[in-house]
Amino acid sequence: MKPLNDVISACPPSGIRRFFDIAAEMDDVISLGVGEPDFVTPWRVREAGIYALENGYTTYTSNHGLLRLRELICADLADRYGARFSPRTECLITTGVSEGLDLALRVLLNPGDEVIVPEPCYVAYEPNVAFAGGVSVRVPTRWEDDFAVDPAVVEAAITPATKAILIGSPANPTGAVQPRAALEALVALAERHDLYLISDEIYDRLTYTGTHTCMSALPGARERTVLLGGFSKAYAMTGWRVGWICAPQQVADLCVRVHQYTMLCAPHVSQIAAVEAMSGPGSDVEEMVADYDRRRRVFVKGLRELGLDCPEPGGAFYAFPSIRHSGLDSETFAERLLHEQKVAVVPGNVFGPSGEGHVRCSYATALPQLEEALERIGRFLVTCSDRAE
Ligand code: PLP
Repeated sequence: MKPLNDVISACPPSGIRRFFDIAAEMDDVISLGVGEPDFVTPWRVREAGIYALENGYTTYTSNHGLLRLRELICADLADRYGARFSPRTECLITTGVSEGLDLALRVLLNPGDEVIVPEPCYVAYEPNVAFAGGVSVRVPTRWEDDFAVDPAVVEAAITPATKAILIGSPANPTGAVQPRAALEALVALAERHDLYLISDEIYDRLTYTGTHTCMSALPGARERTVLLGGFSKAYAMTGWRVGWICAPQQVADLCVRVHQYTMLCAPHVSQIAAVEAMSGPGSDVEEMVADYDRRRRVFVKGLRELGLDCPEPGGAFYAFPSIRHSGLDSETFAERLLHEQKVAVVPGNVFGPSGEGHVRCSYATALPQLEEALERIGRFLVTCSDRAE
């Protein structure tokens, strides 16, 4: 048989899924492994979806997505961040940020173009760059700096082939919220070297310690930024598959070009549910965020009391503690913790080399389970130090 696609064949399967699959086969596992809210979608949103089904909204929508939804998204961005986009020409509804990321990279890149990716980062970034024909160039961030990007390190990685910088804030897996100054410095770099910025802001509503900075709202950024957002996390809507891209018209036009041939449109029922998510009272989202924050405080404090250094996660729903004192590497730590104490976490190295020495724990898990997980991790750490003696 002739060989299959080289780029896809060379791409390793997701390191997150591997642990998830092992955990799914075991009893009594506390999973801190998956990056998914443990809430169901708020009832008013589900009800809108039911209404849409009952009333036969089962067709395609416009390729751009429902205009009402685009209007709500653009009005919200203008309102919260001062980022202004035309709902008719600069906004596209996608099947999740996953599709938005794919479209952005396909539209921006020519074969061999380089994309600078600060890591540790979301596992899909580098494969998507490769699938779009690009080459990702990793730049490290350090937990000693709370995983803030260092503009000097980014600048040192720029070559004549660099096309874009891809960054997520608040971040998966670290929970880091990039300081405004770091983002401004990236915009300045992008202007100086004529680069695009791809800003994954799927966790923008999930911030606990400060306010979110929207990349497109920064001076000089709008014309070179592709802004990605979605409904999966803040509204607990992972299974509905709705997200969006806001970008300057020439970029948005080409994103629609790909989307209309590959996806046609995001699911109609899901778009109607998303309209309700955005236009309804919003107190349900606030309650979920307050709940994540409570869990975050308990969990991070608990990790620190166990002797694990844990940078303050300012956003998303992940803690990324250092496990160096255990004397184990990330893979061994995660594997042994799963088998010996039945707690599933994700080894930090799957998010890039700078994640080595850490594990990702999702605290989108009920508080009693988080407390039980802390006890189990404590018992596990005792066995690590016993063996080290
Ligand atoms: N971007 C980040 C940083 C994520 O963590 C995830 C999901 O975990 C996604 C994008 C994908 O989101 P969606 O469900 O909208 O495709």
